[in-house]
Amino acid sequence: MKLGDDSDQLKLETAERMLELIRDLGECHDARQILVAAARHFRVLFGEFLVAALAIDDPRTDHWRVLALENPYAPSWGGVSHRALPRDTDLETITHQLGKDVTGRVRNDFALNQALAQGKEPFYAADNVLSVHLAAMTNAPCRCFFGARWKRPTADAAAWLILGYASADDADQTRLPLFATTVETTSRLASYPSLVHFVDRQEKISQSIRRNIVHDLKTPITVIKGYAETLQHAEVIEDEIMRAEFVDGIVESCDRLLDEIREIIEPVEGGWRPSFAEFDLATLAHKVVMAEKHTERSRHHEIVLEGADQPLIVEADMRKIRRVMENLISNGIKYSPGMGNTVTVTIGSSDGVARVAVRDEGIGMTVDQLEKVLEEGGRVVDQSLGIEGSGFGLNSTQIVLNAHKGKLEATSQPGRGTVFVAEFPVRQTT
Ligand code: ADP
Repeated sequence: MKLGDDSDQLKLETAERMLELIRDLGECHDARQILVAAARHFRVLFGEFLVAALAIDDPRTDHWRVLALENPYAPSWGGVSHRALPRDTDLETITHQLGKDVTGRVRNDFALNQALAQGKEPFYAADNVLSVHLAAMTNAPCRCFFGARWKRPTADAAAWLILGYASADDADQTRLPLFATTVETTSRLASYPSLVHFVDRQEKISQSIRRNIVHDLKTPITVIKGYAETLQHAEVIEDEIMRAEFVDGIVESCDRLLDEIREIIEPVEGGWRPSFAEFDLATLAHKVVMAEKHTERSRHHEIVLEGADQPLIVEADMRKIRRVMENLISNGIKYSPGMGNTVTVTIGSSDGVARVAVRDEGIGMTVDQLEKVLEEGGRVVDQSLGIEGSGFGLNSTQIVLNAHKGKLEATSQPGRGTVFVAEFPVRQTT
């Protein structure tokens, strides 16, 4: 094939690079790795940039986050260029070393926030206001930038891929359209792993349904066992009131067991919908706490119930809300191993929203771990602690609360403890 001019040569070079990039993408596990892989190829195509970064509009916080792919000028960004790493460094290590978040700097720059939020077209910014702001954001001696929109699978969240150069001489402005096309193609390819992730997740969900069935049946059985074992103690056998209370607990748990079995057998059409009915959340909280107190795992814990001394009438699916409380309380117990730990359950309502907060003094989670369990589900606990679990409880808790137009929130500190707050409207307006 005879090449007509420089631009044909460039197209061929680009096509070859894109093929290599596609091959590399096959080895990537997540978007961060894809970006790092892309940045390596961009250097060949678009010259010696100093900085490569992805600015992402984070709808959860309403701020732009910057994911640094390369920036040797800001140690907090990873502080290395991929060329500083040995040639055979695997992608995972490169990603670990290079991909760092720097949220703060953009958050404070209102002008830059606006420019990124409103801009749509690819840009070439050299020695102008935008380039000065971008240089401040990257903390690098860059005077010239390329930027193009990074397409995300979800249309509501925008992102920019940005390359920063030392001077305008290092960036060939005529390559901007190619840069834009390459960024668009790469970003579209990048959504492929998230599709794979989606399919994986569907598979996990169907497994989770099976596990949940086992979990749903296990809970009332554990409670029945707890009551029955306590009934064997001499002082309980003698105390008639206590005995009656425990027998009631056993009967109620048996009813629940039958309910669970009925629900599994009866086909669920069109997905699960809550069965709304009025009930007293305070009474329910007393029952759940009482039942948990009698389980083996809570023997060395104190469970304190607050805010339940007067009725709190709500309209919700009682069985499912009960499950939510049981899950959060049993997690509070499980993840605060050792003696003398307190789990505090606080119920209340304000502005038409009912809240159940469960606070423990246990092992806690890091910010990343908490984000993972809330967003992806699964387990983050250190296996060596030997704490049993399936990693599906929080997921079903969120499903239940979402179906009630509510939500699950949490804060946690490693070694200090965790607070989970389940919220749902006191009344369901149709
Ligand atoms: P599991 O069956 O594993 O307990 P969950 O879905 O209820 O599953 O919780 C998911 C993960 O979140 C747990 O495996 C654990 O790593 C973490 N987790 C949940 N609750 C707590 C808590 N109160 N304290 C610390 N970690 C927790």
